[in-house]
Amino acid sequence: MKEISCKLLVIGAGPGGYVCAIRAGQLGVDTVIVEAGKPGGTCLNVGCIPSKALIHAAEEFEKVSHMAGGKSPLGISLSAPVLDLGKTVAWKDGIVSRLNSGVAGLLKKAGVKTVHGWATFRDGKTVEVETETGSQVIRAEAIVIATGSAPVELPFLPFGGPVISSTDALALGAVPKKLAVVGGGYIGLELGMAFAKMGAEVTVVEALPRVLAQYDAELTRPVVKRLAALGIEVMLGAKARGLSTKGDALVVETADGKNVKVAADMILVTVGRKPVTEGWGLDQIDLDRTGKFIRIDDQCRTSMRGIFAIGDVTGEPMLAHRAMAQGEMVAEIVAGHKRSWDKRSIPAVCFTDPELVTSGLSPEEAKAQGEIKIGLFPFAANGRAMTKLGEDGFVRVVARADNHLVLGIQAVGQGVSELAAAFGLALEMGARLEDIAGTIHAHPTQGEGFQEAALKALGHALHI
Ligand code: FAD
Repeated sequence: MKEISCKLLVIGAGPGGYVCAIRAGQLGVDTVIVEAGKPGGTCLNVGCIPSKALIHAAEEFEKVSHMAGGKSPLGISLSAPVLDLGKTVAWKDGIVSRLNSGVAGLLKKAGVKTVHGWATFRDGKTVEVETETGSQVIRAEAIVIATGSAPVELPFLPFGGPVISSTDALALGAVPKKLAVVGGGYIGLELGMAFAKMGAEVTVVEALPRVLAQYDAELTRPVVKRLAALGIEVMLGAKARGLSTKGDALVVETADGKNVKVAADMILVTVGRKPVTEGWGLDQIDLDRTGKFIRIDDQCRTSMRGIFAIGDVTGEPMLAHRAMAQGEMVAEIVAGHKRSWDKRSIPAVCFTDPELVTSGLSPEEAKAQGEIKIGLFPFAANGRAMTKLGEDGFVRVVARADNHLVLGIQAVGQGVSELAAAFGLALEMGARLEDIAGTIHAHPTQGEGFQEAALKALGHALHI
């Protein structure tokens, strides 16, 4: 059996793992990364990137369909567009494949050795990898677990046949006629809205009284309005119970306790993701857990010396940029730098229509810490938003009442994902309302809404 040794071994080449390995390589750490699938993990292959490609194609299709229907106020009309989902998926696969090669190239450039195969712990310093050409043993001084997460499967709606996961939804050959989405979180709504724009009749079944329930109702209102405008039926307080006997409908228990059938030729189950903690020998190393996640400290150290864990396997928020930031930090710790988690905010974006961004504390969380000021500026009063037919939505800034330190920023509106960078920067730099209000924002841009929201909190907004 082939045996190699290294200073750092990273298991999993998702955004957490590959960033960790690249940074370690840059710092001269002798690094090996093991990946069973393709470089880039969930995010690049079956998550962030392919879903955003599909969402973009759906948006474009909806736009031209709207014009073909003679409904565009822009004075543009055209004949009925046709969507070839096979070609859309092939285009999306092309992007993924280019990025796969990009990640592989970056690892190589950083001097990282990649081993393809499934890794299993033998003990706290040794891992065995099943490669195509046989087993390989890797001994390492430090090991990073970056094994990510997988879709949660409901026992009464197992994946297969008409019941699909987000991974399957990104590779369909044709748009389903009737799609039932179980779970009204961000993945379900992003994909459900995209398929509705492509022509599917979509029903969302959500057990809680609201969709996107982790956000406040003011923030999600424009999304809820758009769901209705797209003809998406949303069943709240409703529980999926299983497939109908004929397999052509989803059985749903409604909020008032009745069982109804929702006709569906496909059922997309998006009820959350679970950490990948099985199949790689966790029992050999006996790490402490918090619930189902691996427990880590503020340096991503696990309960076993020399073993770190990063990304989705360590808990919420399960987001690619959190995994990357943890990966970068761990690489620097292994290289001997003094680092620990000191981030003020991990922004979150829902690529729904309209998009939704949160950074830092919500008004409720901020209120719990003391007196606050809130400034909200609606895009209905923003020239750029008007020119893009994107007036629904707003930017909201939350700050301490005493010294005006900005604690949280939220936005909902067309294209606001691009404002996440400015929001994150303001929070990391410890901006006060006056800093945002005093920054010249280019005109006409939606970013002006950020400045105006700060001015509003200070009591002197200029355009409202
Ligand atoms: P992963 O990306 O899950 O990577 C783990 C890797 O480890 C995998 O490649 C796996 O093959 C490998 N692996 C596991 N076990 C082993 C083993 N024993 N041996 C070898 N290899 C192993 N996040 C965002 O921030 N923005 C978004 O817009 C967004 N959209 C999403 C859309 C969808 C549909 C989904 C499903 C997820 C989305 N996410 C998004 C979440 C994001 O994909 C994850 O947070 C991110 O991928 C987590 O990174 P990670 O490195 O922890 O693990």
